[in-house]
Amino acid sequence: MSADSPADEVRRAVSAVMDPELRLPIGELDMVREVVVTGDVAEVAIALTIVGCPAADRIEREVRAAAAGVAGIGRVDVAVGVMSPAERAALTERLRGGRRRMPFGPESLTRVIAVTSGKGGVGKSTVTANLAVALAGRGLAVGLIDADVHGFSIPALLGLVGRDGLPPQPTRVDDLMLPPVAYGVKAISIGMFLPRGERGGGAVAWRGPMLHRTIQQFLTDVYFGDLDVLLIDMPPGTGDVAISVGQTLPHAEVVVVTTPQTAAADVAIRSALVARQTGQKVVGVIENMAAMTLPDGTVLELFGAGGGAAVAQALSTDEDVPLLGSIPLDAQVRVGGDTGAPIVVSHPDDPAARAILSVAERLVARPRGLAGRALPVTPR
Ligand code: ADP
Repeated sequence: MSADSPADEVRRAVSAVMDPELRLPIGELDMVREVVVTGDVAEVAIALTIVGCPAADRIEREVRAAAAGVAGIGRVDVAVGVMSPAERAALTERLRGGRRRMPFGPESLTRVIAVTSGKGGVGKSTVTANLAVALAGRGLAVGLIDADVHGFSIPALLGLVGRDGLPPQPTRVDDLMLPPVAYGVKAISIGMFLPRGERGGGAVAWRGPMLHRTIQQFLTDVYFGDLDVLLIDMPPGTGDVAISVGQTLPHAEVVVVTTPQTAAADVAIRSALVARQTGQKVVGVIENMAAMTLPDGTVLELFGAGGGAAVAQALSTDEDVPLLGSIPLDAQVRVGGDTGAPIVVSHPDDPAARAILSVAERLVARPRGLAGRALPVTPR
């Protein structure tokens, strides 16, 4: 027999309800206020972080259901309020872990993987989105930063598109931004911050310093929580963002996406070398748009063959840079991208999906490198 009063039981049940954006139990977020049980009626007061919180309906519904699930409760009244500015400030401070620093520094346990390519159109974003979903599907806590500022496509690839066809705007709790979640991946993209008129593929004509600040902000002011893996979808080539990310995250691991076309290998190699110059470690090459097998058994090498292996070999100077996998051309990959249903979820048995899932496996199976990492010793 439990010594808990009915109110204690209701509080415990309600406290376990998850905030869908912060992904923490609302009890831990100090959102559960008064709980009173009179007879079979439970009155529960909760305080949300902000007024008009998009998750409000869901939280209220789940609080109601949680309270109603307690034995002896017949009716539940939920009063929804909002935190005071001071309470909110205390909460954001706590979520930041008391720090204002970038949480993905060399000492963090999060594996940071920047996905780059020499040129656009090789399927870098498609592969990155699918890798993120594949890793989340393996139970890892995954964040994805769309740093491809001039051609952001991550929101659409993950189906993060509102009724108006635009990416959702992240909820803000003071200056902390909560990334929308799709397929278990917390994703943030510049496409979520543009004034409405400029979205829908409009080019972002920002200069270096502005881009640098935006990347910094994504790393510092977006609440990802504890992540196992943070993927960064880099813009193609060797521009300002590559340098900015390289300076901010010199310990990041870099994966290069290229096509089988050997003529494109040079630009892919160059983008990897720029990353290496900033101290980042190139951990592998992914070949995309590789040979597809047609229904009659014919093998179609639309983009030739050998590009992935050529890039991997060229980068294997001091240490071995493996070809992590070769993803065939596959109409379902494009359909999945166009409909926001990544192929690793929508058609996991397709050859392309299987190839991506196996790359995901290889990526996280490797031990973390020590490149750029401060060693836990103090020099005398
Ligand atoms: P990038 O990020 O390199 O510019 P995208 O991810 O936007 O490239 O992909 C470019 C186009 O190629 C998209 O229409 C995408 O659906 C398609 N695509 C990518 N990979 C494949 C593949 N393996 N098979 C078929 N289409 C693909």
